[in-house]
Amino acid sequence: MPRILDGNRVRDDIKIELKPRVAALAAKGCPPGLAVVLVGHNPASEIYVRNKIKACQDLGIYSESITPPVFISTEELLALVEQLNGRADLDGILVQLPLPPQVDSKRILLAVSPAKDVDGFHPCNVGRLVAGLPGPRACTPAGIIELLNRAEIAISGKRAVVVGRSDIVGKPVAMLLLHEHATVTICHSKTPDLPAVCRQADILVAAMGRAAMITGEFIKPGATVIDVGTNRIDCREEVARLFRGSPEKLAAFDKKGSTLVGDVHPLDVAEKAGAYTPVPGGVGPLTIAMLMVNTVASAERRATVG
Ligand code: NAP
Repeated sequence: MPRILDGNRVRDDIKIELKPRVAALAAKGCPPGLAVVLVGHNPASEIYVRNKIKACQDLGIYSESITPPVFISTEELLALVEQLNGRADLDGILVQLPLPPQVDSKRILLAVSPAKDVDGFHPCNVGRLVAGLPGPRACTPAGIIELLNRAEIAISGKRAVVVGRSDIVGKPVAMLLLHEHATVTICHSKTPDLPAVCRQADILVAAMGRAAMITGEFIKPGATVIDVGTNRIDCREEVARLFRGSPEKLAAFDKKGSTLVGDVHPLDVAEKAGAYTPVPGGVGPLTIAMLMVNTVASAERRATVG
């Protein structure tokens, strides 16, 4: 039987470890603070932001949600970010993506002070990641390494294949795996014979946003498979096909009207992998946990600097 890598459990452990750190900061008079900027009314973004604020509340981290109107201009949003950069009570600033089309997202992300960039997206922090210097790491990639390390899955000397080269997942997770001494291959939509490349992986990370694309033929028997994908399926026939007619899955679909699947085929991975992350309950819970880690670490730096 393969091991199921339980992201909810690791998230809970991380939260337990953070609580005394938050308490120590509060006792010093510098409680951690996070500002989340959510422009407009994107339903998915609203759920993410609500979950981030809730995680702060659970841990006793001060949080502030700022919701400018959808028609805000780049200049107005830049002014808001500047104001947040100057606030001594905030250790982290998170601008929820995507931003509306009239806003220059790159200029906004560049404007966030690197010291408060708890998403790890600022080019200064990307540079620190590449150089192996301390700094906030992108949350989902950092969560993946945390999960592997806590499950005591060896990375050093292993062959890792990352499918996807985005700035928020693929590239940073590849760099983190490299720092952990894996031999890393990054694949993307132009990679020829992807199944053969993936079959070389001891650790396979799927981050493409393509529902259940990684089937059994991509997976080396016994490999560790990390599924970053979160794809909502709202077609009953598709759910029946993917889950081979499972009555439980179809009943759950009928109740909710949709089913969440990753980028990895949920049944094939259970048959071939040695260990894998489920969807939901694998990588997803770790993203917010690592955001909390980055916010607390930023507050600790502020408390040390004074
Ligand atoms: P993205 O920016 O859309 O990037 C997708 C990447 O996958 C691109 O590099 C693309 O290649 C590659 N790709 C697409 N189709 C492919 C194919 N058929 N074969 C090989 N490569 C292919 O996506 P992202 O933001 O990294 O997110 C990826 C997935 O992770 C999404 O499902 C997203 O919802 C999920 N996600 C989950 C979390 C979490 O907390 N669980 C966090 C972030 C993202 P090209 O570069 O050649 O186009």
